[in-house]
Amino acid sequence: QVSNEVVTTVDLEQYGFTKVASGKVREIFEIDEDTLLFVATDRISAYDVVMANGIPSKGALLTQLSAHWFHLIATTLPALRTHLLSTSLPPPTPAQNIPQTLRAALAPRTMQVRRLPLVPLESIVRGYLTGSAWAEYQRSGTVHGIALPAGMRESQKLATPLWTPSTKAEQGAHDENISPARAAEIVGTEVARRVEEISLLVYQMAHDHALPLGILIADTKFEFGLDPASHELVLVDEVLTPDSSRFWPADSYTVGQGQASYDKQFLRDWLTGAGLKGKEGVAMPESVVRGTEAKYREAFERLTGRRWG
Ligand code: ATP
Ligand code: MG
Repeated sequence: QVSNEVVTTVDLEQYGFTKVASGKVREIFEIDEDTLLFVATDRISAYDVVMANGIPSKGALLTQLSAHWFHLIATTLPALRTHLLSTSLPPPTPAQNIPQTLRAALAPRTMQVRRLPLVPLESIVRGYLTGSAWAEYQRSGTVHGIALPAGMRESQKLATPLWTPSTKAEQGAHDENISPARAAEIVGTEVARRVEEISLLVYQMAHDHALPLGILIADTKFEFGLDPASHELVLVDEVLTPDSSRFWPADSYTVGQGQASYDKQFLRDWLTGAGLKGKEGVAMPESVVRGTEAKYREAFERLTGRRWG
């Protein structure tokens, strides 16, 4: 219902919400001390730089796709706790009151989530040899310090998916790939073991679910919170979206070469061709916006089996 509106900034402080953080894509507000309001904007980044204009409805699409996965996780992995509380806005109160028109525009792009202390890792799972893992393998025959058999080729499926964590860098800095052993030093052996186990389970479930739908999930990144009372791990953040994962079209998958990125290839190709890679404040032309929008929509429709918009 907000199909052509592009939301790149959201200010709810004027309506009584405290802003907790502003990421590359999301604005995060506090509802109360235990509850956060996640608002996904239509911002898009490439090569770690946010574009000046957005992709229409992208934030709503990412929110609905994450919600789809959270619900699938609830049925396939019922023992796993997640941070999702609700996909609607909190009811207006005297202290927090968003005007009705804005509520309608924000509703599809918001989630109420449990606010939790975070495990300071990016919990990456890789099923295929690509990206920074392929670069490391070519240099040293390892991936995040894990030795792999010789002679593997770019984009090749790994014998089993690997847990390949990285540090969670402060804003502006780059995450650093680390070995599972290093991760265990940072968060403790037991937490690392459980984060690995859960991440591999969720990745495998999602990979097997997506493949017959034509999408190959090459790798993905999870984040976890830790319930302070029960010490249970809780799956947080967005899950299994094109922003947090590498999706490849399954029908054109070819070992021995790089695969076109499902969603950001238009944007990256255009940035590279125009010599604008890594430059701040760049506005995408209409053709790039439309092409990118279509790919996000296609990913949503394939993965959920529902029409978008
Ligand atoms: P990008 O994804 O582009 O790298 P980002 O990850 O910094 O940017 P966003 O994705 O825009 O930021 O916002 C999500 C932020 O909220 C992340 O910093 C994430 O760690 C944090 N977060 C996610 N879930 C929770 C939660 N349940 N409690 C507290 N913080 C959370
Ligand atoms: Mg994020």
